[in-house]
Amino acid sequence: MGRLILNNANLLDGDKPARKAHVVVAGERIAAIAEAPLAAGPEDRVVDLGGRTVMPGMVQAHFHGAYWETGGLRPLGLEVHPSHAALRAAANFRTALDCGFTTTIGGGCPHAIDAAMKLAIAEGALVGPRIVAGSRDVSSTGHSGDMSYPAWMKLGAAGSVHCADGPDAVRRAVREEAKNGAEIIKLFVTNGHGTGGAGEWEMAPEEVEMAVRTATQRGIKTRAHVANRDAVLFCIETGVHIIDHGDGFDARCIDAILAKGSFLVPSLWFPKRMMTIAPGTAYAESLKPDYEAMAAFLPAINKAGVKLLTGDDFGARGVNHGTYAEELILYVTEIGIPALDVIRWATKNGAEATGMGDRLGTIEPGKLADLLVVDGDPSADITVLRDRARLRAIMLGGNFVKDELATLAGV
Ligand SMILES: [Zn+2]
Repeated sequence: MGRLILNNANLLDGDKPARKAHVVVAGERIAAIAEAPLAAGPEDRVVDLGGRTVMPGMVQAHFHGAYWETGGLRPLGLEVHPSHAALRAAANFRTALDCGFTTTIGGGCPHAIDAAMKLAIAEGALVGPRIVAGSRDVSSTGHSGDMSYPAWMKLGAAGSVHCADGPDAVRRAVREEAKNGAEIIKLFVTNGHGTGGAGEWEMAPEEVEMAVRTATQRGIKTRAHVANRDAVLFCIETGVHIIDHGDGFDARCIDAILAKGSFLVPSLWFPKRMMTIAPGTAYAESLKPDYEAMAAFLPAINKAGVKLLTGDDFGARGVNHGTYAEELILYVTEIGIPALDVIRWATKNGAEATGMGDRLGTIEPGKLADLLVVDGDPSADITVLRDRARLRAIMLGGNFVKDELATLAGV
């Protein structure tokens, strides 16, 4: 089988500044990066990109496939029939892929939907991104995902919620989620960050420790919704893999997370959007102090070398699936993070968070060819990622999901 030769690319390899290069894909992998255009064999397909950008597929590191205009008071994950929820999720996973996100890491899902989607994609029933399957939200009875619903509904472990109290029950909950195919367990350690409250503890420290220990024994990861300084620090030190939101993050948290090598999802687009579409409401006002504190400190967190990730509550009401690029744009245009750094969060860091950093996330010989061809240079103007029409090719493991290369001018 012939190779794909992409000549005259603006190469954004996930870590270094853009440079002119020529990229060769053979089978599912990147075969070579060359300084000069390559001679083609008779079976090779050669495309002159005319300076268009080649970059790694991006990673949505906090993905809720089943969210669909989610909000209000209906129990999370019980809004519609589970089959209906799965079909919505299938559409959302495809949307993520079509927006250039070739990998998702589950931020919480009902009905083992992430795991089912992963199986359906593997057997060829659906086309979708690489998936690190999420779990239901493991937390305590009456936690912020559970407290809005009356006791007689007996939610317990239903929809997106998996209540468990005490280390033994938490151990069982984690094992049940693992049995359902979850590869990363979502823990609701505190409230806050849009779920009411001001970051009060919802799990006990010994429950968090048991969750992390049990997940580790099962060979899977944990992530935590956590929104106060002491709880953030505790989660990092306990070995939680991904800190979600991390409101209250301070210099001590920087030192701790660097020492552990774990990841932070600042997820500022959701609060920013809520403050924009419903300004002055009690809900928007409640998000403001933590938003402003994180926005002010984020450049320092980034400069210190913390492995930040992109991903947010897309699918929540007002924050639609398909608008993922808005989060990246916010970090660059309003918070002042260099575009190249945000691109690294979305590519190299994201791949490392999945555990596949040796195979994904940068464009290097030997790595899997999860690639995007973009009209324009996102490291010079991050807003080009907003326009799906500028994604001229999307490749997943050497296979095109989208291929407009034949229509490029001059080809
Ligand atoms: Zn979330």
